[in-house]
Amino acid sequence: MKIIMLGAPGAGKGTQAKMIADKYALPHVSTGDIFRANLKEGTELGMKVKAYMDQGALVPDELTVEILLDRVSKDDCKNGYVLDGFPRTIPQAEVLDKELEKLGDAVDLAIDVEVPDENIVRRMSGRRACVKCGATYHVEHIPPKQEGICDRCGAELIQRDDDKPETVQKRLSVYHEQTAPLIDYYTKKGILKTVDGTQDMDAVFGAITAIIDRH
Ligand code: ADP
Ligand code: AMP
Repeated sequence: MKIIMLGAPGAGKGTQAKMIADKYALPHVSTGDIFRANLKEGTELGMKVKAYMDQGALVPDELTVEILLDRVSKDDCKNGYVLDGFPRTIPQAEVLDKELEKLGDAVDLAIDVEVPDENIVRRMSGRRACVKCGATYHVEHIPPKQEGICDRCGAELIQRDDDKPETVQKRLSVYHEQTAPLIDYYTKKGILKTVDGTQDMDAVFGAITAIIDRH
């Protein structure tokens, strides 16, 4: 099963994608996580994407598509995957569809986690991420058991550089201009499903698993 998570930055795509990946034994593929890992390691790719990420802009399609196609060609993706943060533009979606078509395959579901802009800023300013395993928390809504420490692996929790309020506004406008058109794109393909992302994490997950199990 190939699932795409859609939604504004901070809507809860990553949180839900990790839960889906665990329950259905699918790899969780996040282009943002791949870029952040490269930034941390100081690779050539990390250096190329840094300025875009710092500004809250999108990394160019050519670069992003290459990274994504390489990742999903790996063995662990042969029975499907959950994409989180990709595609973010119509050209990215078109390339993915064409590549899958060559294999006689297609995306099964695009799940849009809907959260209004006014909730997004609060979500992102309270987001904390584990430096080691990438688990995400929220200081108010989904706090770790011990402040500043990851429940899963015990490493330190940090605030992402691009979660500062100025960058969040920029990312939201980029989302509305470049990513939101994908809702229409997948609606036309008949695979878009929408869930109310303002509910608590488990209720959102319940709505998503109902969709997947019906599919
Ligand atoms: P995205 O991957 O869409 O950018 P995340 O999954 O990282 O978003 O979630 C953004 C922030 O909101 C995180 O701090 C996360 O813990 C929190 N969060 C996720 N889902 C919910 C929810 N249903 N209710 C409240 N907070 C949530
Ligand atoms: P995310 O972790 O999904 O919020 O992504 C963090 C940042 O990585 C974004 O603000 C972009 O700069 C970059 N990024 C992640 N995925 C993509 C993508 N599919 N296309 C372009 N840029 C991306």
